[in-house]
Amino acid sequence: MNIPLIDLTKQYQALKKELSEKLLNVLEKGVYIAGPEVKGFESEMAQFTGAKFAVSTANGTDSLILALHACGIGPGDEVITSPFTFFATAEAIARIGAVPVFADIDPYTFNMSPEKAEEKITERTRAIIPVHIFGHPAEMDAFIEIGERYGLQIIEDACQSLGASYKGKQVGSLGHFGCVSFYPTKNLGAYGDAGIVITNNKEMAKKIRILGFHGMSSQKYFHDFVGYNSRLDEIQAAILRIKLKKLQEWNHLRQEKAMKYTEELKELDLTLPVTLEHSSHVFHLYVILSKEREKLAAYLEERGITTGNYYPCPLHLQNAFQYLGYHPGDLPVSEQVSRTALALPLYPELMDEEQDYVIKNIKEFFKK
Ligand SMILES: *Cc1c(COP(=O)(O)O)cnc(C)c1O
Repeated sequence: MNIPLIDLTKQYQALKKELSEKLLNVLEKGVYIAGPEVKGFESEMAQFTGAKFAVSTANGTDSLILALHACGIGPGDEVITSPFTFFATAEAIARIGAVPVFADIDPYTFNMSPEKAEEKITERTRAIIPVHIFGHPAEMDAFIEIGERYGLQIIEDACQSLGASYKGKQVGSLGHFGCVSFYPTKNLGAYGDAGIVITNNKEMAKKIRILGFHGMSSQKYFHDFVGYNSRLDEIQAAILRIKLKKLQEWNHLRQEKAMKYTEELKELDLTLPVTLEHSSHVFHLYVILSKEREKLAAYLEERGITTGNYYPCPLHLQNAFQYLGYHPGDLPVSEQVSRTALALPLYPELMDEEQDYVIKNIKEFFKK
């Protein structure tokens, strides 16, 4: 058997007919940017997350950059985030000229610890970006409380967690902003790059929209700000509208398969993902910790099973952030998790016999 970490073609095959008709329809109409599909998708996303506004962008990284920029954050400011996330989270902070400050993570959920984040607050801190890593919500009540106490913006990086909920509310709608990516492998994936910012703040929603359209005011070719070109197109919006209707069902399938892994692997010498009581986890990735990660990965690879290394190097130790002056040992939990984390194949279309084969081989590895 050959089992990839993720297979996007099965989902496409299932939606092929509906997608083809819709795409031809978009192409025939001749409106390709800022048309009815984008507008429809934005309102459906607002409805889905329970937030008042949704402003589409070109990708998840831009969603973070635009939210930070809209808050007026820039040179001289500090923004606290997790070292255990995809590079883009901190890249966005650096891109607008602010300083990324990293706070260590919880060893069980892999999310930034609110207590550790609070310790990092200085007079220059302007915002905190909790990341709902792998689909598990961060401790939002604590972050929001800290934000209120210190007057900080709370910007959720919900790129991996669309559809996850925290105390009954959708992630992305809890902080001042929620930033979402529709990169093809995300739980809701476009067929290209796409993103959105969720917010309940009308002024900020307006500002983000203007910034993403070259800072152009309501009067065409009159510009109030130096902005960006960061927009969603009609083709991607049309695809996302069709797929959004399936997201909860797909997330549910991910949860079922995750539960099966957890049930089958619980006796082995592995640390398995947890789901905190007031949270729902949408398993963008099913990540286990193993002291024998490299050996286990190689053993599975030899048997046709692809695993993933998420993430092999925490952000404070990346070459690109050497100028920030961190050293090995500074954020020990994220460093330890980076050395032992391994993602197993998991996606809604993964078949039972495929998952059984993965489980069987992991068990055999530990028998030896
Ligand atoms: C994917 C991702 C991003 C970036 O999204 P893009 O659409 O690829 O720009 C940011 N943060 C996290 C946690 C991500 O997983």
